[in-house]
Amino acid sequence: KARKRFGQNFLHDPGVIERIVRAINPRPDDAMVEIGPGLGALTEEILAVNPNLQVVELDRDLIPVLRTKFFNFPNFRIHEADALKFDFSELAAEKPLRIVGNLPYNISTPLIFHLLSQSGVVKDMHFMLQKEVVQRLGAVSGDNHYGRLGIMAQYFCKVQPLFEVGPGAFRPAPKVDSAIVRLVPHETLPHPARDLGTLQAVVRTAFNARRKTLRKALAGVVSVEQLQALGIDDGLRPENLTLAQYVAIADAVVAAGGLSASASGQGGSGANASGQNDD
Ligand code: SAM
Repeated sequence: KARKRFGQNFLHDPGVIERIVRAINPRPDDAMVEIGPGLGALTEEILAVNPNLQVVELDRDLIPVLRTKFFNFPNFRIHEADALKFDFSELAAEKPLRIVGNLPYNISTPLIFHLLSQSGVVKDMHFMLQKEVVQRLGAVSGDNHYGRLGIMAQYFCKVQPLFEVGPGAFRPAPKVDSAIVRLVPHETLPHPARDLGTLQAVVRTAFNARRKTLRKALAGVVSVEQLQALGIDDGLRPENLTLAQYVAIADAVVAAGGLSASASGQGGSGANASGQNDD
């Protein structure tokens, strides 16, 4: 029986499964890991091409099911672990990882932030997510869905929304529409920040007050004079700035001596600040 607390909605539409696997395009020698294999709907199709697939699954009741189902794949490895805490670099010893999964929607934002923090060892990622989360990942400045998640995803990755999937493809059917997204980490960051933690703190602070003007939303972080020196109108709203402009602000803050303790907030440094309260 599917468990709500693990965000379990199992894929059962063979047409949709095939379409996802075609988008992933697994190769026999890829270093590949699936997050949340569940009963193995995607796993089965990927293993048929790549017998070295590994999986990370938290629900211990599913482990024996997976072991039995895939007993004839000697290289298939199951990591009984919480993907939110999993160190994916362990699995990328020889080559960059390809990460896939129909993710548990209740933890998708913090999980994406966790994976972004490890994007240095990742070749690409394909995820099924709530459609709105895919819209947020791909949003550009001015869009309704533009915010912290999209900015940080695009800092690290090229984001390609692929296609939508309706609730009928799952059992039980979720209440929301879903979509598939591809994230490809940039080989060189297009807008590298001098300090990642400062960039994260600036973006978080701005979008905590997304209806206010920049002057107000970033009061205490950056002065009106600093914004003007960067050619950024302080009457704009946080949703109007591009990633490049957020990086410029963060770099100016660093150049001026860095954030005050209050403005850097919780988890200001480090790439894996949880996205729990992401807006
Ligand atoms: N991939 C399967 C499918 O498409 O049918 C199942 C997808 S279901 C939406 C999400 C899966 O992630 C479940 O198997 C659930 O047990 C697992 N899961 C939930 N939280 C997890 C976590 N923190 N770490 C790893 N797996 C988790």
